[in-house]
Amino acid sequence: MIPLKVYVDPDLCISCGACIDLCPEVFDWNEEGIAEAQVDEVPKEFEDLVQEALESCPTSAIIGEDISNADEEEDVLSMEEEKEE
Ligand code: SF4
Repeated sequence: MIPLKVYVDPDLCISCGACIDLCPEVFDWNEEGIAEAQVDEVPKEFEDLVQEALESCPTSAIIGEDISNADEEEDVLSMEEEKEE
């Protein structure tokens, strides 16, 4: 599985509860009754369930960010910054 960061777009969430039913360890309601990711980086054991939640959200409100190349991207950025100096 791909290491993921996950968050919910509150403007798109219609509070159907599917993601919370699927993976209450990662998703929960906030004070406004909107689903919210409780973790920044998805723990390995929940990656499959979060992927399922991503695919089953009726409004595609759950955004998963692939962080498997995060270190490499940082390297590229810092190299570009160095070139500009
Ligand atoms: S599945 Fe999507 S619409 Fe339903 S509660 Fe979760 S984020 Fe909101």
